[in-house]
Amino acid sequence: MFHNFHTHHLEHESEQAIVQGRDCWGLHPWYVREDDLIGKMENGKWIIDNERIPPLISNPNIRAIGECGLDCLCQTPYDLQLRAFHMQIQLSESLGKPLIIHCVKALDDVLTLHRKYQPRQAWIMHGFRGKPQQLRSLLARGIYVSFGFRFQAETLQACPLDYMLLETDDDPRPIKPLYIQVSELLNISLEELQGRMEKHFQQLFSLQ
Ligand SMILES: [Zn+2]
Repeated sequence: MFHNFHTHHLEHESEQAIVQGRDCWGLHPWYVREDDLIGKMENGKWIIDNERIPPLISNPNIRAIGECGLDCLCQTPYDLQLRAFHMQIQLSESLGKPLIIHCVKALDDVLTLHRKYQPRQAWIMHGFRGKPQQLRSLLARGIYVSFGFRFQAETLQACPLDYMLLETDDDPRPIKPLYIQVSELLNISLEELQGRMEKHFQQLFSLQ
């Protein structure tokens, strides 16, 4: 079995995946609108209006909140992105579901928010293509790092398996070639890598 922690496509054979829109719910920074926000900011933290949480989000089939986050290269006003991210951090905490994060050139703000909220839920930085130094700043906060086909080899090699996840994101290919590439780079067997990812998948998304 190959576990895929974030994809916009349905599973290929021998895959178990967190499929965007089916297994998780989120407001992507590219598309977020003012009307989507539930609740309001008070003293620098988001207060959710619980009455307005759509039942879909609380449904146990929804295993995670996201992808959500911050993107400095998109058109959405940054202030709106920030408020939407605050809101989803609170949703993740109050519903007890991990948070899948999209982050483009906004790493410091993600880290600042992690310090501010001290979340109990796991945070997953998806599609990570950063440098080893950025990786270390995430690991220092205990944030999981998910790598897709376009990873930086040096960074992936610096990432402990305990915090590593693998994903295909919007790439339609099966994930197996990525597993093979990673197991070779890390000099571990494919079976060991599969075992570690399966364990993460069960821990993060409570799946058997
Ligand atoms: Zn994605």
